[in-house]
Amino acid sequence: MSDKLVNAQGLLQELFTSENKSTCSAKKVGCVIFHRIENNKFEILSTGWNDSIGPCKCTELFEKQNGTWFYKNNGKGMLECEMNAHKKFSEKYEVHAEMMALTNLNKMNLGNHSLQLEILSTYSSCINCTKHLLYNGISRAFYVHSFDDIVDVKRMYTILETPLIQITKASDINANR
Ligand SMILES: [Zn+2]
Ligand SMILES: [Zn+2]
Repeated sequence: MSDKLVNAQGLLQELFTSENKSTCSAKKVGCVIFHRIENNKFEILSTGWNDSIGPCKCTELFEKQNGTWFYKNNGKGMLECEMNAHKKFSEKYEVHAEMMALTNLNKMNLGNHSLQLEILSTYSSCINCTKHLLYNGISRAFYVHSFDDIVDVKRMYTILETPLIQITKASDINANR
């Protein structure tokens, strides 16, 4: 098991560090899966950020300016993308932060553990990631910003009786024990 123990501020710091590794031009997204040891003391189990498979990262191919997507054109200026070009690339090649964190968590081979897993994410998870987080036994989820499908995602958490909590500061993670 890792020996990375932090307080709530340390969790938030780890989130920002993960976000900054994101290779998606749409959003910088990171997340941290952790275990609560006691009040304001957490063990970080795994982290993730938006990344992609294949030779090219999103940030090498695309740039978003004022809501419009452009292709990066090898330094020869920028070409505006057709509609949905990034969405199509993303669906095929991009891996969400939560999926990376779950993969890293499963690599740790915690086995038949009884740890209460919690997650802190930049955005509330998309429907697909939410499904996999809940399947993997996440018992509480914290997020900073709401993502597009927050209404459906809230319903999923409610049905599974799992708290989903928006935070504005590190201490909110302590307040919700
Ligand atoms: Zn992207
Ligand atoms: Zn997702």
